[in-house]
Amino acid sequence: MSLLHWRETRPDKDTMPERRFLRSRQERLLLWLFSGDLCQICHLPLGRTFDADHIRRYADGGQTCLPNMRATHPECNQKRGSNTSG
Ligand SMILES: [Zn+2]
Repeated sequence: MSLLHWRETRPDKDTMPERRFLRSRQERLLLWLFSGDLCQICHLPLGRTFDADHIRRYADGGQTCLPNMRATHPECNQKRGSNTSG
């Protein structure tokens, strides 16, 4: 396999719909800006760490893209009632 071919088939491109998490710092920053530094579940200030939560759950076919994401406290995200986070 040539190096070029390997590059083209790498599964870590941003356009891949299968990705599970927001990985780029830029996207996380945008998400944080959109949120106004407030948790989108409890509406208290987020602080330093936040989760990129799927609005429509990944398990239900929700995509990992900014329109389907919101910034939340990790705890709020976990408390949301589903066993699988996301
Ligand atoms: Zn919260």
